[in-house]
Amino acid sequence: MCEASDCIFCKIINGEIPSAKVYEDENVYAFLDLGQVTKGHTLIIPKLHTKDIFHLDPVVAEKLFRKVPMIARAIQKAFHPVGMNLLNNNSELAGQSVFHYHLHLIPRYGADDTFS
Ligand code: 5GP
Ligand code: ZN
Repeated sequence: MCEASDCIFCKIINGEIPSAKVYEDENVYAFLDLGQVTKGHTLIIPKLHTKDIFHLDPVVAEKLFRKVPMIARAIQKAFHPVGMNLLNNNSELAGQSVFHYHLHLIPRYGADDTFS
C-alpha cells in the first residue's frame, strides 16, 4: 500500500519505523503520536499515501472516517479523557509537518492539558 518511499508514515505502515498501534485494518492505520500533546494523542491515517485533504479520495475518506468514532471510543476507554479534539493540518502554512494525510485525536483531561 506504500507509494511514497521517503514518507515516514508510509514507513510506519510498512513496519520500517516502529509505532504504538492503536488500530489497523486494510485501509486505515492508527497509532500514538510521538509528540503526545496529551496522553493518548493518536493519529489516524489512510494506508494509501495521500498528501493532504485536497488530494484525499472521497472513497478513502469514507473508509477512514467510518472508523473514527470506534477509535475515539477505544481511546476514551483506555485513557478516560473528559473530551477530545479532532484536528487536521493541511499545508505547511497551516501547520502540517508530515505530508501524508492524518487526523489527530487529542484527548482532553482538563486544566492541566498542555493543548488549547
Ligand atoms: P502535523 O504537524 O503534520 O499535523 O502532525 C504530524 C505529527 O506527526 C506530529 O504531531 C508529530 O509528533 C508526529 N510524528 C512525526 N514523526 C513521527 C514518528 O516517527 N512517529 C510517530 N508516532 N509520530 C510522528
Ligand atoms: Zn505516505
